[in-house]
Amino acid sequence: MSSKQKKYKGFSSLAIHAGQHPDPMYAHLTPIYASSTYVYDNAEQGMKRFSGDEPGYIYSRWGNPTMNEAEEKIAAMECFEIEVNGKPLEAKAILHASGMGAISSLFLAALKKGDKILTHYSLYSGTQDLIKTLLEPLEVEAIIVDLRNLSIAEKFLKEDAAIKMIYLETPANPTLQCVDLAALSALATQYGKLTACDNTFSTPYFQQPFKFGIDFIVHSTTKFLNGHGTAIGGVLLGTDIEFMKTRATKTHRLLGGNSNAFDAFLLINGMKTLEVRMQRHGDNAMKVAEFLTDHPGIATVNYNGLSTHPDFAVSSKQMRHPGAMMSFELKGGYESGVQFMNKLQLCTRTVSLGTCDTLLSHPASMSHSSVPRENRLEYGITDGLIRLSVGIENIEDILDDFTQALNA
Ligand SMILES: *Cc1c(COP(=O)(O)O)cnc(C)c1O
Repeated sequence: MSSKQKKYKGFSSLAIHAGQHPDPMYAHLTPIYASSTYVYDNAEQGMKRFSGDEPGYIYSRWGNPTMNEAEEKIAAMECFEIEVNGKPLEAKAILHASGMGAISSLFLAALKKGDKILTHYSLYSGTQDLIKTLLEPLEVEAIIVDLRNLSIAEKFLKEDAAIKMIYLETPANPTLQCVDLAALSALATQYGKLTACDNTFSTPYFQQPFKFGIDFIVHSTTKFLNGHGTAIGGVLLGTDIEFMKTRATKTHRLLGGNSNAFDAFLLINGMKTLEVRMQRHGDNAMKVAEFLTDHPGIATVNYNGLSTHPDFAVSSKQMRHPGAMMSFELKGGYESGVQFMNKLQLCTRTVSLGTCDTLLSHPASMSHSSVPRENRLEYGITDGLIRLSVGIENIEDILDDFTQALNA
């Protein structure tokens, strides 16, 4: 639902309280409303709910009180302290079963046959696959370029009237490349295009794309927003409330990619601690990046927070903190990568990201093992590359684990 909220001075106060409504049974926390449908006192009330003359729930694919708190909370966080023409910005959020569900709703709600998307070449692999496998056959074409180069972006926007939307992900998964939200949003306004940003890696605590005039935000809530790795989820947000209430809501309801009350409950409680978790994630990440940079066994460290990183300037301009994601390259290549992974004792070997524990994956032997080596190298996924989601354990223990895994 929408984020029209009372004003909170601090982010955590809002993260804890926004979206929670008094419970009719006086429950402290919004209960897990495990109910597929909702009842009417009489036929007239049923009619009014369907016509929209009376607010109220109808069917949980369409909306649910637990899901509603999660939606209002995320919308409030993404709009925190943003004003447009002297008024607090308002957004509407729609919770989905997954990040991919939210991205699907966005594309199918906003695009039609003949439209094109302008996007950057580093995107989450699922998004890339969705564009290729599902959008192309529907004759929605993607123009994939290096959007860090603004003159390339402008050239395409100027020349191709069929471009309807600029789709961004910054920092991008897995390369951590960043694109300039303010500059691309200004170009989109100039040429009359929509903009959307996948804000999964940053969360609204580290980056608020709406501040730069972005129209839509998507998240995989599976990651830092949930924060504990307990549920898959996604959300689509937009500041065009009319569009969100009509076309976006319709698309979401028809596609059926709704979330559920239990996952929403886990998400709500994860989000309450977002600020303190992100601060710790960020502090730890900076220390891990410095440790790795100084370690003789490491060839390169890819972290936006290092002044040597090519996207350092852009990320410092638009993010409160460069975040908790990084990758690094071991000097010994594939063998060293496998050995390092095997020696870890505290940190967790897995894909995904954004949980309390530090997660590491070795793409060459795991997520990208089926990709031919030449192609893998082309995407920047080298033999000894390790991807890392820095957790909130005590930094001494993370560094001890790395030290023994690198040296032993
Ligand atoms: C994980 C992820 C997704 C997909 O989200 P799911 O919840 O797995 O569907 C999309 N974008 C980014 C950046 C991700 O990291």
